[in-house]
Amino acid sequence: MRLSTFGEKFSSKSGILQLMDDLGNALAGKGDMAMMGGGNPAHIPEVEEAMARRLKKIHGDNDEIRRMIGIYDPPQGEKNFIEGLADLLNREFGWQLTPENIALTNGSQSAFFLLFNMFAGPCPDGKKRKILLPLAPEYIGYADAGLVPDFFTSFKPKIDFLERPFFKYRIDFENLHISDDTAAICVSRPTNPTGNVLTDEEVISLDAMAKKADIPLILDSAYGTPFPDIIFTQARPFWNENIILCMSLSKLGLPAARTGIVIARQEIVRALSRMNAVMNLATGSFGAMMTMDLVRSGEIISLSRNVIQPYYRKRAEEAVGLFEKALEGTNFFIHKPEGAIFLWLWFPNLPISSQKLYERLKEKGVLVVPGHYFFPGIEDENWPHRQECIRVNYSQSEDVVKRGIAIIGEEVKQVFSQG
Ligand code: PLP
Repeated sequence: MRLSTFGEKFSSKSGILQLMDDLGNALAGKGDMAMMGGGNPAHIPEVEEAMARRLKKIHGDNDEIRRMIGIYDPPQGEKNFIEGLADLLNREFGWQLTPENIALTNGSQSAFFLLFNMFAGPCPDGKKRKILLPLAPEYIGYADAGLVPDFFTSFKPKIDFLERPFFKYRIDFENLHISDDTAAICVSRPTNPTGNVLTDEEVISLDAMAKKADIPLILDSAYGTPFPDIIFTQARPFWNENIILCMSLSKLGLPAARTGIVIARQEIVRALSRMNAVMNLATGSFGAMMTMDLVRSGEIISLSRNVIQPYYRKRAEEAVGLFEKALEGTNFFIHKPEGAIFLWLWFPNLPISSQKLYERLKEKGVLVVPGHYFFPGIEDENWPHRQECIRVNYSQSEDVVKRGIAIIGEEVKQVFSQG
């Protein structure tokens, strides 16, 4: 097969592909693998019940069935959902959105692909611009999304050591710099993989830097406010004409609906809709139709605040407790879980690479994600920290998480004792 440069790049083995492949194969294979690798959200009964109620209502209404499966939506996305969402966000946060500020995409992953390549890469003025990630570790799904190589610049974080076993990454503003070839700043809040939540002050500073440089600030709120609101600290939601806020229905419990939401100034939404038309004709209607009532009533926010957030907070605390027990006597740190659905473990001076640790854990029946994938744009190959971390999803059933953490504890102790 003779491939184009595009074909070669996008059909080669990416980190995200390995992750999704592993997930699918392990699910289809040995039934006893503890699946703590991918980003699947938990099955929360109250959320599933709300979705079942909605499906029943749709089932009894021919007009709604048609709107869900029988028509193409416009490339910007389902109109009624977009209107309902603009109203909700204006009511809740005093933003002044119109429907022209919102576009839907087929999952927020595709929104990032479109947005990144809309701003970065070769530009008509002859420059080659890059996406700036102010803090790595950052989401693995960004890493391969550029149409051209060398697409990201990122910066090592400052590390605050908190009460054991916790530490926290902070943006190193002294070293962070925007240059002529910076296309946009992007950051996930909460951060996948670490569970870090940028403080309001950090976001305000990034916003000011972006405005000054006349580039957009892309805030990835896949786990954030106002839904699914998997945030355990105080964090204000932010939006203004210079911010592109990306949200998703996935972590609410609808990853299969593939619904991403982009909130941005009108010219960006228009551009995104046009790109969407070329790539997809239309966005899928399923997620919008499933959550229409929840959005109109505002229940999507109360469900997030009162059910989803406490659910993950409790699961995170339990997982930390289990790790403290399983790793007793080992030198380890956990990033303070401030949000999202993962724990990020750091083993200083780990004698093997994070990939090797991942392979050994897989062999023993637990799937995690090796940490080295989460440093896109970091040029320092010799920074040991890249090889000393793993990401663990704690949202699967309690039995699975307990078993998985016990195996991780045993294996890590083995690794250290063998030197
Ligand atoms: N952003 C972050 C930080 C994520 O963790 C994910 C998925 O895991 C996504 C974006 C993409 O999610 P989706 O395409 O399901 O909306």
